[in-house]
Amino acid sequence: MAELAIPDPWVVLLIGAAGSGKSTLAARHFAPQEILSSDALRGAIAGDEADQRATGAAFAALHRELERRLAAGRLTVIDATNVTVAARASIRRLAAAHAFPCVAIVLDLPAPLVQARNAARAGRVVPAGPVERQLARLAATLEAGTLAVEGYAAVLHLRDPEAVAALTIRRVPTPRAATPRVATGPGGR
Ligand code: GDP
Ligand code: MG
Repeated sequence: MAELAIPDPWVVLLIGAAGSGKSTLAARHFAPQEILSSDALRGAIAGDEADQRATGAAFAALHRELERRLAAGRLTVIDATNVTVAARASIRRLAAAHAFPCVAIVLDLPAPLVQARNAARAGRVVPAGPVERQLARLAATLEAGTLAVEGYAAVLHLRDPEAVAALTIRRVPTPRAATPRVATGPGGR
């Protein structure tokens, strides 16, 4: 993998189990204020990134903040596992309402590596069971070809650490099309 060209502004949806390297990839390629992290929001709300009771509030905050950034015309990176159809659909719906295309970056690394990285990390370690379920969900999604029909402008599928390390992202300043809200009016669609 050499280079991914991302029109700016777009929504960048990261997909991968806990430990697959989403936050590391986001920090390497994007500015902190461009990244909406479900873990960070859980931490901000509950004082603990691992507090699952704050998950609903964290995602509500993530969606609100995404809306705010889309309305302001800002490129935004979604740093959450996004391994379920529903999680991905909620982001795509918000993006579409603001005429923002979505690009998906899939961190599909070998399961033993993901588990080892998760277990070894300095901060929050997610129990192995949930990580296994996330890995299985992602594998089933990829096997079924679901991402190809969900409507992303592009899907980048990274399968090994070398591909992740070699990734470069080029941002292409791109004026946005008028939003559907602007286009719809009396006599409109
Ligand atoms: P996330 O749960 O998907 O956000 O994964 P993180 O980005 O937090 O990464 C999990 C662990 O793997 C951390 O300890 C990272 O330092 C490590 N890690 C992530 N990406 C890489 C990488 O490309 N190379 C190496 N060597 N370690 C990585
Ligand atoms: Mg993370």
